[in-house]
Amino acid sequence: MVKIAIDGPAGAGKSTVAQLVAKRLCVLYVDTGAMYRAVTLTALKQGCSVEDEHGLRELLDKMNLTLETKKGIQRVYVDGEDVTEAIRSPEVTRCVSTVAAHPLVREKLVEMQRKMASTQDVVMDGRDIGTAVLPDAELKIFLTASIEERARRRFQELEQKGITVDYSQLLHDIAERDRKDSERRTAPLKKAKDAVLVDTTGLTIEQVVDRIVELHRE
Ligand code: C5P
Repeated sequence: MVKIAIDGPAGAGKSTVAQLVAKRLCVLYVDTGAMYRAVTLTALKQGCSVEDEHGLRELLDKMNLTLETKKGIQRVYVDGEDVTEAIRSPEVTRCVSTVAAHPLVREKLVEMQRKMASTQDVVMDGRDIGTAVLPDAELKIFLTASIEERARRRFQELEQKGITVDYSQLLHDIAERDRKDSERRTAPLKKAKDAVLVDTTGLTIEQVVDRIVELHRE
């Protein structure tokens, strides 16, 4: 079975790259960050504190979180509602690392992620796929880029959507999210020992995708 794990810090291009790799290999793409975001969005909507670990787990146990691929794009549903766009809001982005740091939240989402990968071929991206979710993945990639490049890409991505943000604020927010994701106790963001480090600074998306597909075929 194909199991490819792609991890790395915020804005390294994981989802764009992972999606294209999955398409090339004709396998399912799973964006695990979207799952943490869906829990965060639901908590914010229901007035559950992002610090309340037990409250978040209860909410997660009750919600029906599903992922579906439509026209090559992963869509996210909570209780039947399409939240694919809503989970990208600045508020969700600001709070998601706090939600993701709770072991009870991770336990349940990791279980769901493993289940998905046990029945189908996947390219899965996140922060702990190679280290915790799929430690036996045949190929592990740790994708990174300089923080300035990551902030610049995110800035351009938002600009293309007609959203203007302050570049230095964006840089600060990315650094803060990386810090929280790397310093948390449960499954912190780190390169798995057997992961291949791919620095995407100065590379095009196609070059990165080619490199990963090549590594998969080796
Ligand atoms: O990938 P994305 O930036 O959408 O992920 C949002 C957040 O979800 C990350 O900053 C991190 O806190 C959390 N996350 C995680 N483990 C994963 C995927 C995402 O903790 N496997």
